[in-house]
Amino acid sequence: ENARRQKEALAAAAEAAGPGGAAAGPVETAAATADGVALSLRANTELPHELTAAIACGAEGIGLYRSEFLFFAHPHGFPSMEEQQSVYSTLARAMSPHPVAIRTLDAGTERLGESGECSTNPSMGLRGIRLSLELRDAFRAQIEAIVRAGSEGNIEMVLPMVSTVEEIWQAKDLLAEVRAGLERAGLPAAPVPLGVMIEVPAAVLVLETLAREADFLCVGTNDLIQYVMAADRGNPAVAYLCQPLHPSVLACLGRIAEVAGRMGKPVRICGEISSNPFFAVLLVGMGFRQLSMTPLAIPAIRRALGEVSVEDARRVAERALTLATAGEVYAYLVPEVSHLIPIDLSPYEKEIRPTNGRHE
Ligand code: PEP
Ligand code: MG
Repeated sequence: ENARRQKEALAAAAEAAGPGGAAAGPVETAAATADGVALSLRANTELPHELTAAIACGAEGIGLYRSEFLFFAHPHGFPSMEEQQSVYSTLARAMSPHPVAIRTLDAGTERLGESGECSTNPSMGLRGIRLSLELRDAFRAQIEAIVRAGSEGNIEMVLPMVSTVEEIWQAKDLLAEVRAGLERAGLPAAPVPLGVMIEVPAAVLVLETLAREADFLCVGTNDLIQYVMAADRGNPAVAYLCQPLHPSVLACLGRIAEVAGRMGKPVRICGEISSNPFFAVLLVGMGFRQLSMTPLAIPAIRRALGEVSVEDARRVAERALTLATAGEVYAYLVPEVSHLIPIDLSPYEKEIRPTNGRHE
C-alpha cells in the first residue's frame, strides 16, 4: 500500500514539477521573487511517502512534520522514544542540509483513544501542547527523541496550540531536563531551535511575549482562521465562515509579519492557504518569506511568486488590508494578481472565494 502511494506521489510530483522537474531528479532551484528576493518554500508532511514528494518538488526542508500521525499509527500506547528517534533521524538525513521541523504531538484525547476527557468541543479542549503537558512521560520521550535526532544537525522542534507563555516555559523546563539527562549519560544533546505555532488568537495578541521565548514562529493559518472566526474547520454548516480573506484574518497576519520583522524572528506560514498563489502574493506583500505547504503545490507556487516583485506584492497587500469584507478583498485581489502573473490562476480562485452565507 505504501509503495503504491509512494509511486503515485512521485508520478504526481513529476507532473507538478513539469519538464526538468522530478523526472530529471530532485529540483534544486532556489525560490525567489521577480526582483530576486529569496523565498524559502518548505513541505508540510505527515506520512512517509510525502518525503519523496517533498524532495522531488524541491522543498527546502520540512517546514512542518505532523508527528501525531506516528502516534495514530499506534492504537495501543505511544511510539517509543527509539522508534520516534529513528523516524526523525531518517527525515533529517533525507532532507539534509535543509531543516526539518518536528511538531510535537498535536492531537486531542479523542484521536488517541484516551478516555480522560469528555468534551463536546475537542478543538478547544485538551489538545496540542496542553495535552503534552498532561502526558508528561510521553512528552519527555518525544522531546528526547527530537534532541537525540538533533545530532543530525538540521532538526527543529515546534510546539502546537500555544496560547500562553507559561506553556513555552514548561516545555523549555522539560527540554532542559532531557538535555541534562543526556549529558549526564555522556550522550550528545545538540541544541535544537524551538519554534512556536501561532494559531490561537491569544497567541497573536501576546505575540511579543511568545516571540521573546522562541527561536522562530510558525503560523498555523488552518487553525488560526477557525479560531478567529469561531467556525469549526471540519463543520460544513459553518464552512462559509472559514474565510482566509476575512479582514480579521488578514489583520492577524499583518500583525504577525510586523512583530516578527521588528523582533528579527524567523517566521513561516504553515497553513495550507500558502499553497494558493493569490494568497501567497498577499503573504509576500506582508513581509513573509518562508512558506510551508503540501509538497505537490511547491512547483506552482515557486513559478507564480517568481513572476511578482516584492514592491508589487506589498502594494497589493497594503490595499487588501484596508478593505472591509472578504468579498471586497477577493474582488480586488483576483484581477490584480492575475494581471501580475502571466499564468492561468483561475483554478485557484474557488479556494479563496467567499460566499455570503450558508445558503448561497
Ligand atoms: C495549521 O493549523 O495551520 C497547521 C499547519 O496545522 P494543522 O493543520 O496540523 O492543525
Ligand atoms: Mg494547527
